[in-house]
Amino acid sequence: MATKLTRQSDNHTSQQNEHPAVDLDLIAQGVRMILEGLGEDPERPGLQETPRRVAEMYAELTSGMREDAAQHVVPLPGDKHDEMVIVKDISIASMCEHHLAPFVGKCHIAYIPRDGRILGISKLARLAETFSRRLQLQERLTTDIANTLFEGLKPIGVMVVIEAAHTCMTLRGVRKADAKTVTSAVLGGFRTDPRTRAEAMALITGKECRRARWRTRRQLYRSTNGSAGIKGRRREWQFLSTGFVGRREG
Ligand SMILES: [Zn+2]
Repeated sequence: MATKLTRQSDNHTSQQNEHPAVDLDLIAQGVRMILEGLGEDPERPGLQETPRRVAEMYAELTSGMREDAAQHVVPLPGDKHDEMVIVKDISIASMCEHHLAPFVGKCHIAYIPRDGRILGISKLARLAETFSRRLQLQERLTTDIANTLFEGLKPIGVMVVIEAAHTCMTLRGVRKADAKTVTSAVLGGFRTDPRTRAEAMALITGKECRRARWRTRRQLYRSTNGSAGIKGRRREWQFLSTGFVGRREG
């Protein structure tokens, strides 16, 4: 178990699972200093409880740092299903580690079970929740969820798409109120088979992705006509898998 956790935190997931408990007093002290830095009087009636309240809020928003996300990836006993499973629109609220400002959005998780192993739908939501309740980057949040599901459930493929609005971008700086960041992580069968990926994307976005279909058709034509060798074909597929929804390597 210890080796597994070390390996996960080194290579895949972002945080160690053994996190120290939150020091509420220390956070409250810091918040008092922020208030002073703003030229406020932390002792005036409206602000007296603020440091404690903010400390408790941060503790709640980072509760996933003190949880083992892998605990949610336990296959349902006795149930078997072999078709693609997609859970759409899981609400997430996370905190950008660069600004300690929230980002909120939707997470979509798709996977293709192997040997009928499936996960309870609420477990997928819990997985997204545990990773989002940490100091995060959206890119890492996306790959954390995908990697943990892929390692724990060993499905044929996993795809995770997150669309989120970052308050550090919508309320300050460039102030693009409607800007949304879309990240995706694609593993296993979804990575190697553009048709399956396009099908999942169509189900997630609710619309057909014509471009992807066209590319897929061209790909099929090429491979059946032998105009590209195995190597060329693999390159093309890799291009397809990285050139999809504005994927950013985290
Ligand atoms: Zn930020």
